[in-house]
Amino acid sequence: MSRIHISEVGPRDGLQSIARVMPLDAKKAWIAAEAAAGVPEIEVGSFVPPSLLPQMADTAELVAFARGIEGLAVAALVPNLKGAERAIAAGAQKISMPFSMSETHSLKNVRKDHAAVIAEIRAIAALVAAQPEETRPHFEIGLATAFGCTIEGVVSEEAVVRLAVASIEAGAVEVGLSDTTGYANPAQVKRLVRKVKAAVGDSRLNTLHLHNTRGLGLANALAGLDEGITTLDSSLGGLGGCPFAPGASGNIVTEDLVFMLAAMGYETGIDLDKLLKVRAIVAEALPGEPLYGFTPDAGLPLGFGKVAA
Ligand code: ZN
Repeated sequence: MSRIHISEVGPRDGLQSIARVMPLDAKKAWIAAEAAAGVPEIEVGSFVPPSLLPQMADTAELVAFARGIEGLAVAALVPNLKGAERAIAAGAQKISMPFSMSETHSLKNVRKDHAAVIAEIRAIAALVAAQPEETRPHFEIGLATAFGCTIEGVVSEEAVVRLAVASIEAGAVEVGLSDTTGYANPAQVKRLVRKVKAAVGDSRLNTLHLHNTRGLGLANALAGLDEGITTLDSSLGGLGGCPFAPGASGNIVTEDLVFMLAAMGYETGIDLDKLLKVRAIVAEALPGEPLYGFTPDAGLPLGFGKVAA
């Protein structure tokens, strides 16, 4: 059975969405426990200016800590060249920069039009290429609002394809598709993955970043797997929630995703019992913060892991 790579984004995406600051020691305990449960990659934080997001001020320390964990791939989000410089100095093995497919969203969020973002990608790619091979990070562009935008509404698939190609031509190693707003549906996921893969090459699109805003997160994940997606971003306990839909998780929930994949026979390398226990660390560090997920509440089904004869 094929292997699916889970990238835990809770310490970045989840924590960035809540105002409270999780203490550094709790973040370290969380990261260490998830790695011990077999999670192969963790996005530990974001190199945004600490004045903008005080929750992310300790990202360099977390990268250094996580690099000490054997076998774990350490990822960080970078908003721009300055962030990429800090991420590389800290030792991040994967850097990913969001690129909003909705130009209005891009102007509002990072005050850059598409041409300016592509120039930034080119500058980061040059910086990455200048690093010695053994410390050169994997440089990925996350195509944000790829399935729809809360400001523009429908986002043109032709535009996504064109900007994916432009990102690769500017020097990104890979592009991923992000359903930032929770607008995606499975038919759309299949269509867009197919179109982007055809344009940039099969090996240049492997990742989906999905949200569960309207309850379609896992259905969208499955649609992606059917089209050859091999990496899925998710967040423990769906931490951070969704600002537009109270009661809905933000990112798809790692525990439910791992349950689905394991039940279907996919390999993730993750021990689900150990993963479920990691929630206690997050719950204790953020008292009162809602944690989402069905599998943690329902428990594993009787006979889970045994194959019917
Ligand atoms: Zn997200």
